[in-house]
Amino acid sequence: MEYRIAVIPGDGIGPDIVDQALLVLETVGKKFGHTFHCTKVLAGGCAIDATGNCLPQETIDVCKASDAVLLGAVGGWKWDNLPGDQRPERALLGIRKELGLFANLRPAMIFEELADASPLKPEILSGGLDIVVVRELTGGIYFGDRGTRDTDMGPAAYDVEQYSEGEVRRIAKVAFDMAMKRNKHVTSVDKANVLDSSRLWRRVVTEVAKDYPEVTLDHLYVDNAAMQLVRNPRQFDVIVTSNIFGDILSDEASQITGSIGMLPSASLAQGNFGMYEPIHGSAPDLAGQDKANPTATILSVAMMLRYTFGLSAEADTIEAAVKAVLAKGYRTPDLYTGEGTLVGTQEMGRCIAGEI
Ligand code: NAD
Repeated sequence: MEYRIAVIPGDGIGPDIVDQALLVLETVGKKFGHTFHCTKVLAGGCAIDATGNCLPQETIDVCKASDAVLLGAVGGWKWDNLPGDQRPERALLGIRKELGLFANLRPAMIFEELADASPLKPEILSGGLDIVVVRELTGGIYFGDRGTRDTDMGPAAYDVEQYSEGEVRRIAKVAFDMAMKRNKHVTSVDKANVLDSSRLWRRVVTEVAKDYPEVTLDHLYVDNAAMQLVRNPRQFDVIVTSNIFGDILSDEASQITGSIGMLPSASLAQGNFGMYEPIHGSAPDLAGQDKANPTATILSVAMMLRYTFGLSAEADTIEAAVKAVLAKGYRTPDLYTGEGTLVGTQEMGRCIAGEI
């Protein structure tokens, strides 16, 4: 089969880690007989330098003409003093909007070999951890009405949290479909004891659950969910929640794993289209030094193969290769604790490709 992928290396370590992900993609393509046509385009700080615009129209056009997008990371010190609306990170909001990416999938998993990196006690994590946070990405308070008005107490600012039934229904379906491929358990997180928007959220999620009789649904208030994530994270399979709650809980879940360089993510549109990227940023402190861990980006490619292209065996092969390389003791500097073999970005990529 042939597939078209728009590749946005971006800034900082973006180009370093994306190169390794493309090496792994090409290797898996050769093994399984697929051709991946990759077109590199600009976004972020490098796009500002080259065109004056963090998200050039050409980038949007190439992304729209592709089956999926692979993104490294954007941003860096060089552009930190630009006004908010001109910063490289604006490219991310623009891409999400242009491509209709409404569902953000953030897996938090622990590789047995890296269990020591977690800040939680070993007994809490014994048996491993494998959670996916499904976060609504284009609605809620981050996109609601906002403003400032005068009051008796001085100027007051407000941001409105609003969700329509349609928005909740489509993100709930993503979560239930995901649970069907996993352990058939969805936890919906809201604040229905206080917020009207959460009461609507809970009602719609409960309705959607009727179409998935095999999936167990439970509901948690967000404050309880935040506690449960550190008390007993193994109780979760798929967590579905709003934009703002998901922003916070997915970061909390990723910290449980202790290794930012290992975690991939996906942002999906209606249909199979998706953008895939590591959860971390552009790490300007490591850029161009062959020190960044490329594994999160490589695992993002595995997610792309599974969710956009439906190539599960190919995705499994990449994940197995990552596990094998960790089991053999190869570690990039962020994971290195004095044992095993210290390797750079390129060597880590070569090792993973070699296992494929
Ligand atoms: P960051 O994730 O880039 O870095 C946080 C820490 O983790 C740093 O110490 C960094 O060295 C380390 N780190 C990150 N990725 C790593 C990897 N693959 N291997 C080894 N170590 C890694 O977050 P930050 O420092 O807050 O932000 C840096 C820049 O990235 C900022 O301009 C920020 O706006 C941008 N950013 C971009 C994205 C994105 O493109 N999606 C996301 C977050 C931050």
